[in-house]
Amino acid sequence: MTGGRSPAAASQSAPTTQQVPASHEVREVAEGVHAYLQPDGGWCLNNAGILLGRDGVVVVDTAATEARARTLRQTVGALSSRPVTLVVNTHSHGDHTFGNHLFAEEATVVAQERAAAEMAEHGLALQGLWPGVEWGRIELSLPRVTFRDRMTLPVSGFRVELLHLGPGHTAGDAVVWLPDQRVLFTGDLVFSGATPFVLMGSLTGSLRVLDRLRALEPLHVVPGHGPAGGPELLDTNADYLRWVRSVARSGLADGLTPLELARTAGPGPFAHLLDSERLVANLVRACAEEAGLAPAGPLDVVAAFQDMVTLHGGLPACNA
Ligand SMILES: [Zn+2]
Repeated sequence: MTGGRSPAAASQSAPTTQQVPASHEVREVAEGVHAYLQPDGGWCLNNAGILLGRDGVVVVDTAATEARARTLRQTVGALSSRPVTLVVNTHSHGDHTFGNHLFAEEATVVAQERAAAEMAEHGLALQGLWPGVEWGRIELSLPRVTFRDRMTLPVSGFRVELLHLGPGHTAGDAVVWLPDQRVLFTGDLVFSGATPFVLMGSLTGSLRVLDRLRALEPLHVVPGHGPAGGPELLDTNADYLRWVRSVARSGLADGLTPLELARTAGPGPFAHLLDSERLVANLVRACAEEAGLAPAGPLDVVAAFQDMVTLHGGLPACNA
């Protein structure tokens, strides 16, 4: 077993000589507001949030595997003896939602309505993409409360707003915004140190959403994957997406497929980002939108995933 597969064994410790990432890090970004980060932020190594309300705890996203979700739950329990009353899912993807069932007995799960529908539709299909991952026992636990555009969470001691600002990473993204602390949990609308991913949402929509997130003037941004930061994370994601759009436009003019285009373009100025094979999937979405597909319109996601495997030269590593 690698350290990346042993979340119960490690936390916040110094890197070992093998430089295996710790299973998670907890960072208090404001009083009672914690970012739960799972290095290195690659495939299925998502971030979560923990808000310590006076009467109960809010958890923002869970984790992909049973072991990782149990570690998250233990970490929450160590921070507060109060019950977890609410779990917010920022979107439908399994790395953010598969651990819901470990909280569902005491907590109400909340998500944007499209996210809830996607979770019901896709079930546990993500597990099939990475059969080598030790998923553990995962039960689908769907949101019991949904919202369309906006919802204020009942959390004593905090103003907590859930905002759906249009299709971006998926059709049903929600951000969690704490206006008093100016803390923003973005879900996968923002990646930090890893390649953004808009295959199942919209490139143009993501750029619009990033503009609206910038207008909130957050001080602290907790991305869906990778290290927390500030509003500069919004800019780096927008820079990448504008570059993808420019590559897509040049490729369409030359009559290239997304895979040919990704091979021709290479990672460009973004070679430092993890999971660079997402470029081809992002180009699939970008080219379709340039050709008139509506944001979050239907695409052959399985074929695009296969393109990523081809571009990568094999199944990309998933260290969940
Ligand atoms: Zn996602």
